[in-house]
Amino acid sequence: MTANRYPHLMTPLDLGFTTLKNRVLMGSMHTNLEEQPGGFDKLAAFYAARARGGVGLIVTGGISPNAEGVVFAGAAKMDDEGELPHHRIVTDAVHAAGGKICIQLLHAGRYAAIKDAVAPSAIRAPISKVVPRELSDAEVEKQIDDYARAARLAQQAGYDGVELMGSEGYLINQFLAARTNQRNDRWGGSYENRMRFPLEVIRRVRERVGDEFILIYRLSMLDLVEEGSNWDEVVTLAKAVEQAGVNIINTGIGWHEARVPTIASSVPRAAFTGVTAKLKAEVGVPVITCNRINTPEVGEQAIASGQADMISMARPFLADPEFVAKAAAGRADEINTCIGCNQGCLDHVFVGKLTTCLVNPQACREDEPEIAPAVEPRRIAVVGAGPAGMMVAAVAAERGHRVTLFDSRTCLGGEFEIAARIPGKEEFYETLRYYEKRFETAGVEVRLGQTATRDSLLAEGYDDVVVATGVRPWTPPIPGVENARYLDYLDVLEQGKPVGRRVAIIGAGPIGFDVAEFLTESDEHVHQGKEGFMAEWGVDASFETRGSLVAPRPVPAVDRKVYMLEVRDIKVGSELSKTTGWIHREVLKKRGVEMWGGVTFTQVDSDRVALVHRGEAKELAVDTLIVCAGQRARADLAEELEGSGIRVHRVGAARDARGMDAKLAFAAGLELAKSL
Ligand code: SF4
Repeated sequence: MTANRYPHLMTPLDLGFTTLKNRVLMGSMHTNLEEQPGGFDKLAAFYAARARGGVGLIVTGGISPNAEGVVFAGAAKMDDEGELPHHRIVTDAVHAAGGKICIQLLHAGRYAAIKDAVAPSAIRAPISKVVPRELSDAEVEKQIDDYARAARLAQQAGYDGVELMGSEGYLINQFLAARTNQRNDRWGGSYENRMRFPLEVIRRVRERVGDEFILIYRLSMLDLVEEGSNWDEVVTLAKAVEQAGVNIINTGIGWHEARVPTIASSVPRAAFTGVTAKLKAEVGVPVITCNRINTPEVGEQAIASGQADMISMARPFLADPEFVAKAAAGRADEINTCIGCNQGCLDHVFVGKLTTCLVNPQACREDEPEIAPAVEPRRIAVVGAGPAGMMVAAVAAERGHRVTLFDSRTCLGGEFEIAARIPGKEEFYETLRYYEKRFETAGVEVRLGQTATRDSLLAEGYDDVVVATGVRPWTPPIPGVENARYLDYLDVLEQGKPVGRRVAIIGAGPIGFDVAEFLTESDEHVHQGKEGFMAEWGVDASFETRGSLVAPRPVPAVDRKVYMLEVRDIKVGSELSKTTGWIHREVLKKRGVEMWGGVTFTQVDSDRVALVHRGEAKELAVDTLIVCAGQRARADLAEELEGSGIRVHRVGAARDARGMDAKLAFAAGLELAKSL
């Protein structure tokens, strides 16, 4: 691999008054550091690491131009000079690291989770509890002035420019769409009137900041909601915002209330780049494409093919701050790839938790001391190559220990690798590729297909043994189960044991969902590509219709009836990931999977499940019974080694299986490795 493998991606972009060193933008992401005491120091370290990593331009998380536009009570805003010192810390750090940074101004409008939310019209969003108050004409004027004031303050704080958040269903988008704008004054009615708000914002911002300040407009190219914009309106707006003085148009895909997945793992890579390409033909300013671009190859292709002038990636920079530097140096195989899971980032942000990253637990902790070399290098055996074990092995070796990693399976990843087999989770394999390379670089001796025993470990004379042996499936005490023939999730997903056409899955947690999706997947789903994905979710592939919505393609027939049965009296799937759980529920619903919570089992046999569901006795005839009701730590090796003289460390699920997942396991592995 050579340094010029991505020549288009690495070409500078000349904006006239300033030049970006390459075509990679770090897209806006809220981290929740913005609201923490001392958070701006941490943010400065966070952004500076990405600037050092070579990204061409950074856009901050959304900052409101005033108090009424905050996403939640207490969220960051830029509305007076008192804010400047915090932001100065960030801009100075980024500039010192050789980078450039824009602030994103985001007014949430009716999405603001505050009691005084405002909007063009008093229409509640389906994802919000608050009915917003309709802005008066004078108040609309005030919002525009507030944007201009915030942009000027940002300039004083040292930012290189501003991105105006005009998509995703926030205030600017709310003015544009008839769905949310039912005014009949000069801000509503005709499209020309509905466009007045964004155009006035751009005009007044430009007036306040002058010509030599980057102005990006994030334009909703696909609203993916009813009564959203159609293509003619998108083009009309794009031409008008160009005319009004923006330097770059960024792509926005889908309102938050849209029921089309836009960034989940199951969305094909660069699924929506076609719409950027279509708009690029209509305007003269550079356009940025985004959504599900997570490798330099995909980014290079988007630019080389003329579909876009720049790419934006947000989450991939949480996963790896050095994404660009590694690509530029011909080391793309060392990139820790974002797998699109949302588990450490968006799922955290939406519940007020600090952002992290499932594959990079160090994200948002860049201000912490660097991991120090080991004081006294030792010989360490790590047993189990799941997330916790892989992380321990890599970091311990990088610290100078001599590490051997064992796994009885013939591949890396443990249960993480098994999850990668679920259609839609193929990105997980990128993490395994990353660790394979990392082990090679760090000199970890990897012994797959080898079961490490107490005796073999003692015979080899290790100083420490890390037991990262994960979990084993657990069967709950259900009447009859002890005499029934049943499978567990490993039988189905790993062993590929035959499964009949009538299936009952006992347990509807994340693994139950994985198994149900696996069993109801058709070839048509698996090999559908971008066009098939759009047809499945009802996206107009020509991007012409209003909201770019059409009737979804009929679901391919599923030759299997699956029941998911959950003892806990919950809405089945409600505990899945906040941002992607709805996708899994929706997919299974379309495939006719029955999801029952609050079930009491009265008797299970190999071919029959008797139960009470919501007070009603039912009996299901089944061909296959599958138990996915939980797991227990697999830590026998640790017990066997007690008292042997070797230092033994348990990590991940082998230490505590309760609530354990890949995100916590990677994080636990890191903490243990630092302490060895
Ligand atoms: Fe990507 Fe998942 Fe990390 Fe978020 S948590 S940045 S989606 S890998």
